[in-house]
Amino acid sequence: YRAKAEGLGSAVFDPSIDMAGEDLLQRVAELRAGIAAGELTLHFQPKIALASGAVEGVEALVRWERPGGAMVLPQDLLPLAERAGLMGDLTDAVLEVAAAQAARWRAQGIDLPIAVNIPASAISDDRLPRRMSRLLAEHGLPGSALQVEITEQALLTDPDGAQEVLTALHDLGVRAAIDDYGTGYSSLVRLRELDVDEVKIDRSFVVPLLLDERSASIVRSTIDLVHALGLRAVAEGIEEARVADALTDLGCDAAQGYHWTRPLPAPELEAWFVEHRGLVDAQAGEVLAAW
Ligand code: C2E
Ligand code: MG
Ligand code: MG
Ligand code: MG
Repeated sequence: YRAKAEGLGSAVFDPSIDMAGEDLLQRVAELRAGIAAGELTLHFQPKIALASGAVEGVEALVRWERPGGAMVLPQDLLPLAERAGLMGDLTDAVLEVAAAQAARWRAQGIDLPIAVNIPASAISDDRLPRRMSRLLAEHGLPGSALQVEITEQALLTDPDGAQEVLTALHDLGVRAAIDDYGTGYSSLVRLRELDVDEVKIDRSFVVPLLLDERSASIVRSTIDLVHALGLRAVAEGIEEARVADALTDLGCDAAQGYHWTRPLPAPELEAWFVEHRGLVDAQAGEVLAAW
């Protein structure tokens, strides 16, 4: 059993996943069955436009809801899916759930683009744009209803393949973001040759923004460079109001983080969104009244 288990996904063997062979085989079988049974769900985290405070979209983050109620998070789920060769199935399932949710929200008058995280293995696969085109048509959605996020690392793996896929997605009207920017030491000028719209600055630079001058200058110069290239800057991992304020002062376009809310299941996100929209409208009203 052990030899067989170690053969699974051995190309991406990750020694940090401490699982015995039989246990791994069982978990792989459970994941395969779980995906087929529709146990992958999405939680949604709002993306806030910093200048207005308005919600400009949401990011979809995958969770595996096991039948007993246990929830498996991406840090455990993604390496398992990689090792099991199930990353393609996972991505298909996530895209399907996201498109269905986008259609439901639009029918309710909630017009929030949903950004989906795309793994390295899919970003240079020309089946991705075809799959997204079909999904959009099936759910009656414009391309702007879905967005993709690709990590800087994934883009570095095969920039030429990624370029073709991103151009095809761009032609569908699907916007793209470079995720976790700053962790891959790449040239943003080089990445600009890709059809991307947005750069998400990694949490590891945002968290120490007010604590150390080096992080502050990295964030400041990244935002300026992103703007010089005609792209939007988005910051990840904002947990405090004063970090949100500092990013607003630096001209950062949008941000996400626990400061506003953790990722939420769809019904809770809807309730949060309605309440937040009320607050933003009330504030805008006060500003008008003060005028
Ligand atoms: P990411 O795309 O950079 O997503 C941001 C992660 O940071 C999410 O973790 C989110 O819950 C978390 N986060 C958001 N705001 C804060 C904050 O203020 N503080 C802290 N400490 N964390 C915050 P999550 O959901 O565990 O996802 C982790 C990573 O897994 C994601 O990083 C993404 O790379 C990957 N991932 C998530 N869903 C999918 C998916 O459907 N497909 C693929 N291929 N990857 C996914
Ligand atoms: Mg992301
Ligand atoms: Mg990110
Ligand atoms: Mg990140």
